[in-house]
Amino acid sequence: MEKKKKFLGILFDCCNVYRRIYINKEKNAYEGNCPLCQREVRVLIGSDGSSSRFFTAR
Ligand SMILES: [Zn+2]
Repeated sequence: MEKKKKFLGILFDCCNVYRRIYINKEKNAYEGNCPLCQREVRVLIGSDGSSSRFFTAR
């Protein structure tokens, strides 16, 4: 019923850089990597839509 965003704004704490990461093909998580150090990050999407706010990667 609720729309899910195709991307999530995330702050990479490792390099203090902000970037959007995109939903994966299974549509159960947002996946991306840091543009500077290439560290991978994944944010699971909760069934309650709790991923709607932007995140800080640690
Ligand atoms: Zn980094």
